[in-house]
Amino acid sequence: MNNKNIRYLKGVGEKRAALFNKKGINTVEDMLYFFPRSHEDRSKTKLISECVNGETVCISGTVYAPVRENRIRRNMTIYSMIVTDSSGAITVMWYNNRFVRDVFEVGDRYTFYGKISFRGAKIEMTGPVYEKEGQGRFTEKIVPIYPLTGGLTQKIVQGTMEEAIKDAGRLDEYIPDKIREKYKIAEINYSIKNIHFPDDFESYNIARRRFVFEELMVLQLALLDRKEIFCKKDGIRLDGSCVKEFIKTLPFPLTGAQNRTIKEILQDCASGKQMNRLVQGDVGSGKTAVAAAAIYAVVKNGHQAAMMAPTEILAAQHMETLQGFFESMGITVVLLTGSLKAKEKRHALEMTATGAADVVVGTHAIIQEGVDFYDLAFVVADEQHRFGVEQRAKLSAKGVNPHMLIMSATPIPRTLALILYGDLDISIIDELPPGRKAVKTYAVGEDMRDRITKFIYKNVKLGTQVYIVCPLIEETEKSDLKNAEEISRKLAEQFTDITVGLLHGKMKPKIKDAIMTEFAEGKIDVLVSTTVIEVGVNVPNANVMIIENAERFGLSQLHQLRGRVGRGCDQAFCVLFAHGNSEITKKRMETMCISNDGFYISEQDLRLRGPGDFFGTRQHGLPEMHIANLFEDRDILKLAQEAAKEINAEGLDKYPLLKNRCGKVLMDDVVLN
Ligand code: ADP
Ligand code: MG
Repeated sequence: MNNKNIRYLKGVGEKRAALFNKKGINTVEDMLYFFPRSHEDRSKTKLISECVNGETVCISGTVYAPVRENRIRRNMTIYSMIVTDSSGAITVMWYNNRFVRDVFEVGDRYTFYGKISFRGAKIEMTGPVYEKEGQGRFTEKIVPIYPLTGGLTQKIVQGTMEEAIKDAGRLDEYIPDKIREKYKIAEINYSIKNIHFPDDFESYNIARRRFVFEELMVLQLALLDRKEIFCKKDGIRLDGSCVKEFIKTLPFPLTGAQNRTIKEILQDCASGKQMNRLVQGDVGSGKTAVAAAAIYAVVKNGHQAAMMAPTEILAAQHMETLQGFFESMGITVVLLTGSLKAKEKRHALEMTATGAADVVVGTHAIIQEGVDFYDLAFVVADEQHRFGVEQRAKLSAKGVNPHMLIMSATPIPRTLALILYGDLDISIIDELPPGRKAVKTYAVGEDMRDRITKFIYKNVKLGTQVYIVCPLIEETEKSDLKNAEEISRKLAEQFTDITVGLLHGKMKPKIKDAIMTEFAEGKIDVLVSTTVIEVGVNVPNANVMIIENAERFGLSQLHQLRGRVGRGCDQAFCVLFAHGNSEITKKRMETMCISNDGFYISEQDLRLRGPGDFFGTRQHGLPEMHIANLFEDRDILKLAQEAAKEINAEGLDKYPLLKNRCGKVLMDDVVLN
C-alpha cells in the first residue's frame, strides 16, 4: 500500500509528524486507517432567523463589519463581528483568538459552524469553525471528528486526512473479490473515502461495515495461520479407549459437558497431531476430573504427564486430588514446587527424570532448568491466564511436542473465545455437576452493615467459614475504600470468639500460602483479603463471600470471586457492598444477583464495560480493536470468521496483499496467551 512517511505530506512537516507518530501514525497508510470516532453533520446550513437557542449549526452569511477587539480583563479579549444573511444578523465571537482579526474581508461570504446562544434580543455564535462559503472542507458537509492528542486539532487532522487520501491515489484492494461479493463488502477506495468523508450516513455505515469486517477477518486469518503452524506438528498418538475404566472408578457420574470435553481431548490425542486445546469452564464445573481422565490415558499409554498450577496451594490441591483418583491404580504422582526441601526436590527430580513418576504436579518450578522428563507427552496448564507464551513454550519444550491442555475458569462468550483463542481449539464445560445450588447473592448498601456483620457471626457459629474481599490494602487518603486491615481488626475486636485472618498482596508468598492453608484446614473462620484468593482455591466449608466496594470490580472478577463459595452441598451466600448509584453499577449488581452463569455474566460484562475496557487490560493478549466493537459487531464477526476459514482453506499465499496485512497485525501484538 502506501508506505510514504507522513512527514512528506503537504502541510505536515517534522513537528506535526512527531505528533502523529505519537498516535502510532507513521505512514500514509497508517493515516488512512486512523478512523474518526464520530461525525458531525454540518451539511445543511440554516437561516439565522431559524436558529434555536443552544443548537450547534452551520450558517452562511456576509461579514458586515470588521472584527472588533474588546479587552474585558487581563488574559481575556473578545473578538467579535456581525454577520448577516437574508433573514437577519448574528454576532460571531471568539475568546482570546487574535488570529481571527486578519481572516475576514468585509463583504465576503463565509460559512460558520458553532453553537448558538440567545442573549436578549441578540443571537450569538461562539468559537465557530469557519471557512469561505462553498469551500466545503470543514463545513457544509459531514465532517469527521478524530480522537486527538495534545497539539493536534480537528482541523489539522481533517486537513491532513484529505491530503493523505489525495496522496494515496488509487488503492489496491486486498480483500478477494469473491469474498467481497459473497459477504457484500464495499470496495476499499469507496470505503476509505466514506469512512472519513461520507456523502451521507448510509455511505458511512457501508464503509464502516467493510473495515469492521476487514479488521476481524485479518485478525482471524493471522490467528488461523498460526494455528496451522501448531497443527502441522506431529504429536504422540494416544489410544483413549482405556478412559472408560477410569471413569467407572469416579465417585460421581460425569456431566454431559465433562464427557464431551474428554471425548474432544481424546480425539485430538489420537489424531497423531499435537493437541492445543483450551477448556473453559466455570469454577466448580469439574475441570480437574476432565484433566485426570486425559492424564490416565497418557499414563496407560506408557507416557508421562505434567500438570502446572500458578500457586503452591493450588499445586498441592491438585496433587491431592490426582492422588485420590489414581491411588489404587498404581499410578505414581509427584509434587514439584519451589518450596520443597533440597532432599525432597532431588527425589522428585529423579523420579521425573527416570520415569518413576507417571504424573508430575507443580508450579512454575516444573519449567525451570534442570527439570528433565523421561517421556513427557501431555501437559495441563491450569488457570491459563497466569501463564505467558514463553512459559508455555518452555513447558512444551520439556517433551517432544507434548499435547497441551489449557484450563481456564474465566468464561468468555463463545464468539469472543473464538477470536481470542483462535489459535486454540476450545471445549466449553457449560454445565455444573447436579445438585449445586446457585450462590444466593445480595447487593446491599452501608445501611445493612450491622445486619451483615451479625450474619457473618451467625454463620461462623454454625460452622461455616467466611471470605471478605476488599479492593485495597492500605487506606489511601482520598478514598473511603474499606481496607482489609481495618476490617479484620474491627471484626476481631467485635467478636473475640472467632478467628480472623488477613491476607494481602504485599505479603511474602510463603506467608500467604501458610495463611491460606490454615483457612483451608478450618483454623481461620473469617479470611479478610485482597483479591489474592481469586485463583481456584477450593475450601468447600467456606460458604459466605462478602465483597467490599463491589463497584470497583469488573463483573467477571466478581463472578470469579463468588465462585470461591458454594463448593460444598450447603446453600452459599454472596453479599456485595456497592457504593454510588451510577446506572452501570446498578446494572452490574443486578446481573450478579440474578445470574450464576459465568458465560452470561461475561457477556454482560462486555456489554456494560465496552470493548476498550474488556481488552484494555490486555489480559487476553488481543490486539486493540480499532473499529470493531466485539459486542455490537458480533454478526459481522461471524461472517468474518467464515470468510477467514474460506481463505485459509485456499491458502493465504494466494493473496499476497492480504497476507502482508495479516503479518502486520500480529507483528507487535502477541496473541498467543
Ligand atoms: P474446577 O472446574 O473449578 O476446577 P473442580 O475440578 O475443582 O472444579 O471440581 C469442583 C468439585 O466438583 C470437586 O469437589 C469435584 O470432585 C466435584 N465434581 C467434579 N465433577 C463432578 C460431577 N460430575 N459430579 C459431582 N461432583 C463433581
Ligand atoms: Mg480448578
